[in-house]
Amino acid sequence: MLLTFAQAKQKILQAASIAKPLNSETIPLIEANARIAAEPIISPINMPRFDNSAMDGYAVRMADIEKSSILPLSATILAGDNICNLNWPSGTCVRIMTGAPVPADADAVVMQEQTETTNTGIRFLEQVKIGNNIRRIGEDVKKGTEVFAKGTCLTAPTLATLATLGFDTVKVFKQLKVAVFSTGNELTPLGDPLIGNGAIYDSNSFTLKLLLTRLNCKIIDLGIIPDDPVKIKQALMTGSTQADLVITSGGVSVGDADFTKTALAELGHINFWKIAMKPGKPFAFGQIDKALFCGLPGNPVSTLVTFYQLVQPLILALSGYPLTELQPLSFKVKTTKALKKSVGRLDFQRGTLQTNSNGELEVTTTGQQGSHITQSFNHANCFIVLEQEQGNVNAGELVSVEPFNALLK
Ligand code: AMP
Ligand code: MG
Repeated sequence: MLLTFAQAKQKILQAASIAKPLNSETIPLIEANARIAAEPIISPINMPRFDNSAMDGYAVRMADIEKSSILPLSATILAGDNICNLNWPSGTCVRIMTGAPVPADADAVVMQEQTETTNTGIRFLEQVKIGNNIRRIGEDVKKGTEVFAKGTCLTAPTLATLATLGFDTVKVFKQLKVAVFSTGNELTPLGDPLIGNGAIYDSNSFTLKLLLTRLNCKIIDLGIIPDDPVKIKQALMTGSTQADLVITSGGVSVGDADFTKTALAELGHINFWKIAMKPGKPFAFGQIDKALFCGLPGNPVSTLVTFYQLVQPLILALSGYPLTELQPLSFKVKTTKALKKSVGRLDFQRGTLQTNSNGELEVTTTGQQGSHITQSFNHANCFIVLEQEQGNVNAGELVSVEPFNALLK
């Protein structure tokens, strides 16, 4: 029985939700890019830490400025100055720089451009408003409040915020350990000569390791395993004892040399192995002891698409990312060309999303969509997602698109 794509994804996420959470570790902030926060992050300080000036200009008291539009200058405050002993007589103003602490009794900072210097003091050219150009203590982040929730993926802006709060380390989930191998007698490692008529390069190992690296996983590379049930079982045993997740490519269909599924059934259990999706109908999901297992189809396009659509959310969920945030961005646009689609499977065709001359978004297919046509990813920046029961699509019809996320960029 073919599961729908939605059912398959739900089963995968369900398995992730009951898996043992990863342990955590404290690492230097500089090494935390793309890692996932293992606890809520609480700010130890207010940000800004003190009332400070948003401009280079002059601090004034309203009472003074209401009496005279020219005020003599009594002091200067630079960023980093300590103003405990500031002498600021009434009837005067204080020169102040961006980021410098604002004296408690200042009502506003007037930007330099709205003043001019005269012989008797600073002339204020425009009406002064209370509170202008003063950045208030804690208005960005309040001391003791949660800045980022547990499960936040730490990116350049989030890490930059942690740096402003003085963190130099952060507690993150440990990296997920993933064992990978390719199956197939025809496979040759990259760099080796292709010998014999039937040999091809093992591109899937490379693709999977690249994508796993981008998802911050710890890779256990088990190489190429021939189509031999005993060797496949051995590799599955090694992988499942060393890793949290085992990923293979090839050998999950109904061919005479497709042994992965049987080996999985003998060592652990198969959750499902067929999905009504294209590319990627054969996709085995299961478990061997504590390790989850994903058996991806061998065609390189199917490997890439099933990894993106099903393994990526699994890895993110297992890595500590909140399930609620795993929904991809999706919207409808017109297709510029007709699309071939047979009823019965959900299609993830590849397309190029662009803006037309009217400023509207539209999508164009990248051409042939066969699961062996790696060129179908060339110039693609999105999936065109065509529902299971949808047939052929005419040019000009609305179709759902999912722009590629960072994994494919
Ligand atoms: P399979 O899923 O094993 O039936 O393989 C389906 C197709 O994908 C066949 O044409 C294989 O030669 C090809 N294929 C399988 N594994 C790989 C791999 N690791 N790299 C590139 N192509 C592969
Ligand atoms: Mg094979």
